Parts: sequence; C-alpha cells; structure tokens
Amino acid sequence: MIYFDNSATTKIEDSVLNTYNVASQQYFGNPSSLHKLGLKAYELLETSRKNIAKLMNFKPHEVFFTSGGTEGNNWIIKGTAFKKREFGKHIITSAVEHPSVINTMTQLEQLGFDVTYLPVDKTGHVRVEDLKNAIRPDTILVSIMAVNNEVGSIQPITQIGRVLDDYPSISFHVDGTQAIGKDLDDRFIDPRVDYFTFSGHKFHAPRGIGFIYMKSGKQLEPLMAGGGQEKGQRSGTENTPAIAAMARALRLLKDNEKVKAQEMLKLKTMLIQHLEKLDNVHIFSKLDDDFAPHIICFTLDGVRGETIVHTFEDRDIYISTTSACSSKKGLESSTLKAMNTQENIATSAVRVSLDENNTESEMKEFIKNLDEIHDHFQILN
Ligand code: PMP
Repeated sequence: MIYFDNSATTKIEDSVLNTYNVASQQYFGNPSSLHKLGLKAYELLETSRKNIAKLMNFKPHEVFFTSGGTEGNNWIIKGTAFKKREFGKHIITSAVEHPSVINTMTQLEQLGFDVTYLPVDKTGHVRVEDLKNAIRPDTILVSIMAVNNEVGSIQPITQIGRVLDDYPSISFHVDGTQAIGKDLDDRFIDPRVDYFTFSGHKFHAPRGIGFIYMKSGKQLEPLMAGGGQEKGQRSGTENTPAIAAMARALRLLKDNEKVKAQEMLKLKTMLIQHLEKLDNVHIFSKLDDDFAPHIICFTLDGVRGETIVHTFEDRDIYISTTSACSSKKGLESSTLKAMNTQENIATSAVRVSLDENNTESEMKEFIKNLDEIHDHFQILN
C-alpha cells in the first residue's frame, strides 16, 4: 500500500496510540474532580498543555484544546465576531480558505456581518496589496490560512502581519492546520498573529482533538457554554487521553523537522520533475519557496479526478481529489476556481500529499503507476 493522502488525515503513530491507551486506562478521572484520580488527570492535562506550548514557543495559558481544525476555525472566527460586533462588522478572508472558514463566514453574513473574500493570483497566493486595500475602519478580523490544503500555496502571513502592525485593533487569525510540522514556522508563526488553529489528526494524533493559540490578553466569545472548562472559554470534559496523545505526536513531529521537510521536498521534486515530462498534464504546485513541501496538485487532462483516484486505488495507492472535504460532494475545487483555472481542467485535478514516513521507493513505485495510468488514458482519449 502507498498512502499519499496525508493532508486528508494521517495514520495514528503506534507510540501515540499507546499513550492514548495508557492515559485512557490509568488517567481516566475527570480533570475537574476533586479526588486524587481527578488530580492525576488534571496534572496530565496541564503537563500536556505545557509541553505543547513549549514545542510551539507559546505560553501554556495561550493553548486551548478543541475537537480539531473545524471547531478551532469556527470558534476563533465566530468568537471574534460576537465579541467585537459593537466595534464593526467587517471581516477579511480569502477565496481559498478551508470550508470550515468559508462556511463560517457564510453563517456570519446571514447574521449581518460583511465579509470580503480576497482573490488569489494564478498560483493561489493572496496579494498583500489587495489586503491593504480591503481594510476599512469597521474591519474587526483578518483570517488567512498559512498553507492551502488543495495546492500547497504558502500565504504571505508575515507580510500581512507587517500591514496589520498599523491596525492594532484588527484581530489576526491564521489557520495553521496544513502548515504545522513542515519546517515553515518562520513563515507563519508571526508575533502579530492573535489566533492560530491546529488539528491533531494531521500529524499522527487521534481524530477529534486539536488546539488553538490565543495570544495573552486576547478574548473570544465562548461557543460552548457549560461547566466552564478551559478557563471558562470552552466547556466540556477535556479529552485527556487524546490531548496527551497529541502532545506526544507533536513532540515526534517537531523532532528533526527540518530534515523531514527536506525529505518530503525531495519526493515532491521527483514527482513534479517527472510530471513536467508528461503530455496533457497541468501542475498547480510549484517547486519554489512559496509552496509547502508536502502537497502536489496536478491533472491528467481529460480524465475526471475521481476516475484517477479510483484507478490508483485499484493499485492500492491512495491519493485524493483536491480536498477530502469537498470530494464526496463532487464539488469543483474552490481553490482552483479562485485561481481562474478552466472548469474542464479543474475537474481533472488530484492531490498527492506526503508525510515524513513516505519513502523514495514509494515515490518511484507511484511514478511507475502514474506512467501506466497516464498512457492508458492517453490512448482512450
Ligand atoms: N483547515 C484546513 C486548512 C484543513 O486542511 C482542514 C482539514 N482538511 C481543516 C481546517 C479542518 O480540520 P479538522 O478535520 O480537524 O476539522
């Protein structure tokens, strides 16, 4: 089996699963309980928070646990909008955000907020000049992702940060879900950012766990009302085993991060250089510094993305159409559309997404299969 769909989700790592199991069995108390089982679970929770904060260069009190990227994005965007609605109702985002951002914005529009969706250039990057021009006196939030999940474009977060230095009252949110652990911290962990979103299952932690960064002194309106966990910000009994497992997964992710990112880039380079030799292929992910090392989006022109995915699947190779979240609905890729890609080309797009466990021999095998599949469809077309 070759698993090249790591941007959709990753396989849980063995030792991470072990941490989850041990924590479930031995630290099963409710962290809010007063007895010693509760205290033991509370200590595990807070140690995990401390460890995650240290690995990310955050402070422990800036880390809040969520159920994943979707909740993090919903909470930060709605929580900011509700908190700051008296000061303004204008929000800036981009046309290539994940559905958990775009659909949150749509809900806010229905509640009377005004959202500007910045366009992107033909490589899938937001232009800083467009952002500057979009800022209004009533702008309360800018929400831009660090790495696009469909083509891997890295957005100009630090440059946007410098623009927003002049607008201290505007909150700045960055969805870092696809950027974490790819040796890109200096491209998006910028001091001007007020909120980040992260999701555990993208880095070998269990599903249904994630965390947000909320800069010291910042506040969100809670979306989950209840028992007041997470300092009253996000109620619900903490998922201590998954949190401890995520802390371990993050430590493994951060270990040798640079080398692992270079390995992924090597595999990406092999694939792109090969694709460049084929006829009737479009490649949307480039080999330059403005693209992440793990995502390669391309087409075999004239063949639908689903057909390509299933043809690889028949050979026990797993890739996806551009984004797992919209693929079942058969929706055209929103990112490729925003990049002004012709519809008949966009519907042929597929995404290969790598992780640090993928090897050169897997990529060689993938390329061999790609050639056969490409030739097969060339004859048919
Ligand atoms: N943001 C981005 C950029 C993503 O790629 C994803 C996952 N596809 C999410 C948010 C949502 O994360 P989760 O699956 O943890 O809800």
